[in-house]
Amino acid sequence: MKSIFGMTLEEMQAEFSAQNLEKYRAKQVAEWLYKKFAKSFSDMTNLPKDLRAALGAKYRIEKPTLRTRLDSADGRTSKFLLVFPDGASVESVLMRQPYGNSICISTQAGCNMGCAFCASTLHGLARNLTAGEMLAEVLFIEEMLSKEGEKVDTMVLMGSGEPLMNYDNVVCFLRLLHEKYVLNMGYRNITLSTSGIVPAIDDLAEEGMPITLSISLHAPREELRTDLMPINRKYPLADVVAAGRRYAEKTGRRVTYEYILIRDLNDGEREARELAKLLKGQTASVNLIPVNPVPERGFERPTDESVASFCSILAHQRITATVRREMGSDIQAACGQLRSRHMSAEEKLQ
Ligand code: SF4
Repeated sequence: MKSIFGMTLEEMQAEFSAQNLEKYRAKQVAEWLYKKFAKSFSDMTNLPKDLRAALGAKYRIEKPTLRTRLDSADGRTSKFLLVFPDGASVESVLMRQPYGNSICISTQAGCNMGCAFCASTLHGLARNLTAGEMLAEVLFIEEMLSKEGEKVDTMVLMGSGEPLMNYDNVVCFLRLLHEKYVLNMGYRNITLSTSGIVPAIDDLAEEGMPITLSISLHAPREELRTDLMPINRKYPLADVVAAGRRYAEKTGRRVTYEYILIRDLNDGEREARELAKLLKGQTASVNLIPVNPVPERGFERPTDESVASFCSILAHQRITATVRREMGSDIQAACGQLRSRHMSAEEKLQ
């Protein structure tokens, strides 16, 4: 049986016309799937009964089920552990920000990039998500919000996985989300976060999708970055920053650089000055993120003084820097923590 959830309208029309079905039936099905959150063909009440049965015999509508939900004490952050029919699980997060509802979506089940500070990589990569599966994460939250008269406003691809290692599916997903018959989400409301896959950054700049690119740097010199992010061996810092510069020039979009601050490792005056030098003259801003402690790695949070001093050194060098407000740390909102806990529990049961 073929999966229909995640097909574009054009793909559905091609499928249906091959079966001598009228074109407008594809539009009706797309509306049920993407606007009315239908879970099965039997929900599609404006389709004749025999057509519903025929479609149900040919196509499956694949959606994840909710395994765990955690809500932060202030009620502004909710985290969902979603499980797909084959058992692959992902985390999706809703953050109710003053400027609207922002969601954080996973692009792979697990990740094999091996970043030292990240729980998503602890169990390696299970598999890539399809465009339909990423869309299902979004629509799961959209459906929930619609019951409160609200909607998803902005999205970051910052959950588990390296989006640019799942390039084709991610680009299909973003185009689908942008369609009027889906969420009609503006590309400017989308941020893609990458560990710095240089050739894919260049490809993305050519897609004609003015999404915001967020590049994880986390260190201002090569050896230190390789210790934190093994991908730096393949795509060194200097090449990553050059790719960021090209992306900004090509798309006219400001590139955001993510920098996790870890006490006594990369939070000193030396690193702040090196970072400023690295980014000088680029249309860029820096997001400083005090690390969530990782006791196994000996990573500790930086002091408030060192965060403030890092920030002000960047500001003196005319680099826009902000310290990311923590949301939902009481519910393990950092990348991959909930999924990792769930998988460890499953392993113990086996
Ligand atoms: S930070 Fe991102 S790229 Fe690095 S291991 Fe975690 S999910 Fe993968």
